[in-house]
Formats: sequence, structure tokens, C-alpha cells
Amino acid sequence: MHEHTWQAVSRHPTSTGTVTYSRCPCGAHTILLEDGSENLLAAVVER
Ligand SMILES: [Zn+2]
Repeated sequence: MHEHTWQAVSRHPTSTGTVTYSRCPCGAHTILLEDGSENLLAAVVER
């Protein structure tokens, strides 16, 4: 069973929070949206 190893590719502050794009060597991508207190608001994983 593969366990993703997320590597942050880029980080963008927005009015809603910080959007972080990460990817795994297997090709999966994840997009995280966190507010100023680092609470996770949304997460999207694409494989
Ligand atoms: Zn992976």
C-alpha cells in the first residue's frame, strides 16, 4: 500500500487563506486551503 509523500510545490496567500500545492512522486497532487491559524478549510487530492 502506497503512502503518499507530499512535497510542497508552491504556496499562495489569498484573502481566504493560504493555498498550498503539493505532489507525491507517484504522481498524485493535493491542494490544501488553510486559514491564518492553520486550520484546514479544504483539501483536494487527485491521483
Ligand atoms: Zn503517492
